[in-house]
Parts: sequence; structure tokens; C-alpha cells
Amino acid sequence: MKDTGMIRNLDSLGRIVVPVEIRMTRNIDIGDPIEFFILNEDVIVLRKYTSTECTFCRSLDHVSYYKDQFICNSCLKELGDPERLPQEPEPSPLLPQATADPGSSVKRKKTEEMTQRLERAIEEHPFANQKQLAEILGISQARVSQLKRKLNAPRQSKIG
Ligand SMILES: [Zn+2]
Repeated sequence: MKDTGMIRNLDSLGRIVVPVEIRMTRNIDIGDPIEFFILNEDVIVLRKYTSTECTFCRSLDHVSYYKDQFICNSCLKELGDPERLPQEPEPSPLLPQATADPGSSVKRKKTEEMTQRLERAIEEHPFANQKQLAEILGISQARVSQLKRKLNAPRQSKIG
């Protein structure tokens, strides 16, 4: 357990303020439910409460935990459907670079890198199916099919 060194006094109604540093780093917003745990005689632990309902549809059936979120089977299936993956829009050559989202070029670079890795994986394992390729590259099958579409798309020549 890490000592934050932060001390807050209980007010006359028994309330304490969770220090803003903790709220910011732990992603706790005003109005969020907080759970109390008793660790031992002296220690009470506070934790942001996350219910086990699906983040997307609030269903409580067949819910699994993924990256700090709960998701139900049917939402999981919908998300995994490669048809639902948005096509990345081609950047317009007319737009000045300054207006481009700084994160998008990094993302594009990653996609290019992954596309090249996929190309290599296909060369090395010409008979691998989508699932096996996904395992080789450590990405989802949906991502493989998205990248494959990129690979098969005719290369666009740069304008200007
Ligand atoms: Zn759901």
C-alpha cells in the first residue's frame, strides 16, 4: 500500500474530501459512487465503484471483464463484427497539416507498421487463416481483416 501523505479532516457531517490529485489520477468524477472496504482494524480502503453491468447496454447477463470495463456477450459480438469497423478516412491533401489531429499521424504510422507486419506474416505463413494471423501478430481478428482490406486496396499516389 502506498502512502500518499495526504491528510483530510472529517467535517461536522462526517464527510471527507477526496484530494483532487487522487480524483484526477484515479479518474473519479463528482457524483461517482465510492465503495468502502475494511482492510483490517486500522485501515479503510476507498475504491471507485464499478457495477458489473454491461458498460454499453446495462445488461447483467453473461458479462465479462475487459480493460476495466464490463461488457456483455451480445455487445461483445457486435463489437467484434468486422463489418462495424469504421473505414479510416483518407487524409485530404488540401487540408493544411496544422489542422490535422496530432494523434492521427501516430495512429496512421502504427497502422502502416502493422500492415507491413501483416504482409510479412502472410509471406511467412501463406496458409494461415485470419485467426492464426491475429494470433501471430497479437491483434484481433477484426483488426486483421481491416488491415487486409488496406493491403488489398490500390495504393493511392500522393498529390503535390
Ligand atoms: Zn451489452
